[in-house]
Amino acid sequence: MITPKKLIWHIFPANVLTILLVILTVSWFGVVSLQEFYLQDTEADLESRAHLISSKVKEYLRDQKIGELREYCIQIGRTSGTRITIIDPQGKVLADSNADPETMENHGQRAEITGAVAGQVGISRRFSKTLQENMVYVAIPLTNISANVLQENSEKRIDAILRTSVSVAALDTTLKRIKTRIILGSLAVLLLAGAVTLLISRNISRPLDQMTRSAERFAGGDFSLRMLPAVKNTASLEVATLATAMDRMAELLDEKIEAIITQRNQLETVFSSMVEAVIAIDTEERVISINDAAAELFGVDKKAAPGKIVQQIVRNVQLQQHISQTLAARESVVDEIVLRGETGDRFLQTNVVILGNGAGENAGVLVVMNDVTKIRRLENVRRDFVANVSHELRTPITSIRGYVETLLDGALDIREDAIRFLEIILHQSERLATIIDDLLALSKIEDEAKRGAIPLASGPLRPVLEAAAQTCQLQADQAGIVLVIDCPEQAMAEMNATLLEQAVVNLLVNAITYSRQGGEVTVEVVVGQAEQAGKVRIVVRDNGIGIAKGHLPRLFERFYRSDKARSRAHGGSGLGLAIVKHIAEAHDGAVEVKSVEGKGSEFALVMRGELVG
Ligand code: ADP
Repeated sequence: MITPKKLIWHIFPANVLTILLVILTVSWFGVVSLQEFYLQDTEADLESRAHLISSKVKEYLRDQKIGELREYCIQIGRTSGTRITIIDPQGKVLADSNADPETMENHGQRAEITGAVAGQVGISRRFSKTLQENMVYVAIPLTNISANVLQENSEKRIDAILRTSVSVAALDTTLKRIKTRIILGSLAVLLLAGAVTLLISRNISRPLDQMTRSAERFAGGDFSLRMLPAVKNTASLEVATLATAMDRMAELLDEKIEAIITQRNQLETVFSSMVEAVIAIDTEERVISINDAAAELFGVDKKAAPGKIVQQIVRNVQLQQHISQTLAARESVVDEIVLRGETGDRFLQTNVVILGNGAGENAGVLVVMNDVTKIRRLENVRRDFVANVSHELRTPITSIRGYVETLLDGALDIREDAIRFLEIILHQSERLATIIDDLLALSKIEDEAKRGAIPLASGPLRPVLEAAAQTCQLQADQAGIVLVIDCPEQAMAEMNATLLEQAVVNLLVNAITYSRQGGEVTVEVVVGQAEQAGKVRIVVRDNGIGIAKGHLPRLFERFYRSDKARSRAHGGSGLGLAIVKHIAEAHDGAVEVKSVEGKGSEFALVMRGELVG
């Protein structure tokens, strides 16, 4: 992967290279033009000098005064700073201002000489081996030196060549100096360009850096920052426009995220506070989320559940099968599932539906469970109640009918039998009446309690308990049982005296009925202290036959009897304790039972009350 370069490395090399190229091109053109101008100027100058001395040279040549010619060349050469060489057309050097002609090699092949021999002005720029310097040479042909005027007008004949030359060492030095300056200047310009580029790139990148930092904070979820105020003074129009756009984007994102969070929180609240247990499961059968009700139902930690395989959480084969089936067949399943637990079975009306994501793809399943245990229990209670009522009523009715038929079949004629049968019929009809009275009483209490029509008033407890004891005294005496009341005079309770008396009578009748001859039944009132302050307990205790532990939870249900034979024998309806329970509830209180089989029982009515005075 190519790592992105910093902005300066994008701008700097290109900038510097361009500037360098411009400098080099301009300098090169400058130097070359200067050199060319200087050389051309020098050549023109050399040609003029050659022409200036040409007549004198011609003279010496015409007169064959080679020695004097050489003297002349040396003298003129010295005064004009020019090297002067005279060469014959064959290339032999006749005279030279700077060297001895005898020692000089043939010059016939030199470029400027061949040019001059051809009748032109020969020019050459090259290194002189003789003088060991870069030189410019200009050679002009000297024609018709010995001819008269007439001959001069005829065809031109080249008799000698006059060559002038100067060293261009000065030019080289000047050019070298210029080049050094150009290099130094270039370096300075490059430095300046670097600094300017750095400054520009800084000016561009600094606001961008600031924007990057702000964008990183946006990415981290902090939208409080705004980019424009931070960059407005330094940024270019384009960057400032970008900052404005980013600020607007942050604002919109902030609003959107805020809205999403609010929505999510609302959904979360709805989801968690739903009474129905809800579990969302993905296609891999892993829990996506679970609400409070479901976590409680399956006894799992709501926070730890997501990500776990559903089988780890839901230990119910039926539900697991429904989940797998819905995932496989993509069809919803509705079923009632029974969850076995230590505290009893729980009935769950369960819907397993397909969970789709926003794009309409299968995202898993949603399990929604409605706890219908109470409804099922109520249904059972109601069914049992109807069955029980029918059964309870049918028994005395069947009995009455049987005896009436027997009487009609002839027993009426036998007086003793008739009287015995009629007594039984009377007893059974009384029992029937008791059941009906108790049923009516029960439904009346239930109904009034539901409507809040049972008036409660604070009053002394003792008279109520004494009245109840009075009612049961005869029965107690017959059974040889002692009734004891242990209640402080100042004990007061928030009560409906009539109903409370009925409840205590029911408890006393039971205590007497299920006691042995010579037993003792106590009604004790305990006024609550400390934590129990504001409450009174009316305890009816006997030392009778007691109740087996297994019966205790259902004892207050209608028609529930732990000792059926004895209950029937004494004409009980099986509704006594149910009435007590409803009366306790109408007092905003409760009824409790403790019993040891064979040792006795203790029933307690708990309600609001206190000691006064
Ligand atoms: P019943 O009319 O049969 O007495 P109750 O509702 O008053 O009906 O009582 C329900 C059952 O509870 C009784 O059948 C009896 O078996 C049991 N029971 C109630 N009180 C006592 C008690 N003090 N001692 C033993 N058993 C009791």
